[in-house]
Amino acid sequence: MEEAYVRLLCPACRKEWESDPSSLPPAEDGFDCPDCTEHRPLAEFLRTEHELQTLQELR
Ligand SMILES: [Zn+2]
Repeated sequence: MEEAYVRLLCPACRKEWESDPSSLPPAEDGFDCPDCTEHRPLAEFLRTEHELQTLQELR
């Protein structure tokens, strides 16, 4: 069974959290940090390549 979430890390404020891949946009889309509102492509919030793979498989 694959993990049903991806781990995120804000590159600006270092907030760490987890999210359901089905609630996230594609990795290349813009995304806002829920804490500091930093706006970057979602891919830059993904902690590892594994997170990117999980996102692409489950969303
Ligand atoms: Zn942030």
